[in-house]
Amino acid sequence: MTSILIKNAHVIDPFNKINGKCHIFIQNGKIAAVGKDISNKADQEIDARGLTLTPGLIDMQVHFREPGREDKETIETGAQACLAGGITSAVAMPNTTPAADNQTVIEFMVNRAAEIDLINLYPTGAITKGQDGAQLSEINELKNAGAIAITDDGYDVQDEGVLRRALEYAKTTNMLLMSHCETNSLTGDGVMHEGWVSTQLGLAGTPAESETLAVHKNIMLANMAGDARLHLLHNSTAGAITAIRAAKKLGQKNLTAEVSVQHFSLTDEECFGYNTNAKMYPPLRSKEHVDAIIAGIKDGTVDALTTDHAPHTLSDKQKPFADAAMGSTGVETSFAVMNTYLVEAGHIDLNHGISLMTNKPAEILGIDKGTLSVGADADIALFNLNHKWAVDGTKGFSKGHNCVFNGKELTGKCVMTIHNGAIKYRDGEILV
Ligand SMILES: [Zn+2]
Repeated sequence: MTSILIKNAHVIDPFNKINGKCHIFIQNGKIAAVGKDISNKADQEIDARGLTLTPGLIDMQVHFREPGREDKETIETGAQACLAGGITSAVAMPNTTPAADNQTVIEFMVNRAAEIDLINLYPTGAITKGQDGAQLSEINELKNAGAIAITDDGYDVQDEGVLRRALEYAKTTNMLLMSHCETNSLTGDGVMHEGWVSTQLGLAGTPAESETLAVHKNIMLANMAGDARLHLLHNSTAGAITAIRAAKKLGQKNLTAEVSVQHFSLTDEECFGYNTNAKMYPPLRSKEHVDAIIAGIKDGTVDALTTDHAPHTLSDKQKPFADAAMGSTGVETSFAVMNTYLVEAGHIDLNHGISLMTNKPAEILGIDKGTLSVGADADIALFNLNHKWAVDGTKGFSKGHNCVFNGKELTGKCVMTIHNGAIKYRDGEILV
């Protein structure tokens, strides 16, 4: 295997408290040295002056659609899109066709990702068979097959008794349970956030309480199960942040929460013009919720930033708003969205933003990733923080062109991504 010396980058590694100019030496797929004076001879030298180098980003929530809907995305195109955004590790949700509620699907995903060898893919297993919220999956089997967590994402486990048993299983098997929080009877036929914009558009709304109530329920039941490892997916409401903050203050352990980048950067006003790329679940909320989410990021209530990358075919999106598919692509834009809407906007510093996309998600997942520690796998991203660009959702590696940031001006772009010590992406191209 070749060795690479990357010189003169501004290195940010929150886990090791590195934030300054230094060199990185990579050998045999691992980080071999980090420092200001490295004289090792390398097969390849890269002068990264003016660039920012971070551990490869970790995205805790993506939908890669394979098996079953390869017309929307495949593990390969999803992984390519990740590399273009500086992401080297992704957690795949189980709402494939068939659902990842059995060993066979999990093993397929693990094997396919290994065959492609572009990023580290961590599949999740469904909490309930067919994600129907009724009968628990064989959680131990899913774990043994390689599932990193269990979740019914896409759906909320409505039955409190079923959710309680799942959390008790999670506790005894030390499995992470990731919850999509929604109260179906409050969501009703809502297709966007309930507020003045939904009224203006004449569309049925989903109240914030649909999520907030479910967040309270999940926190209580995890606590009842002896502080089971509960991770709350894509929080979007002020009430959810308040509940999580309070539970953590009261000492609840093993409780973590993420925010998807669209929920701190955009409001429900994106739905004007019946823009179906802005249709998603949870929906884009009003400004008061966005402000509360940002406050939760600033004060540490929020532990990770994700994309909820949800690619769709054009025909699934080019429909009347009420009938269109839900979700937005995101892995190619998430770093730039974080940098633009959190760092440039003055809410947090870059070190904090990178931490929420590297060592913090690694800690929640219990994986040895997201750092530049000597001996760690050499997963690295290089960004040009001065690059301003306008998002064009039709370009890029994802099969889905449904990006809610389409047309937005962002600052910061990934220029190189290294996975296991090999350059897999450089200047717009996948290298294999
Ligand atoms: Zn979800």
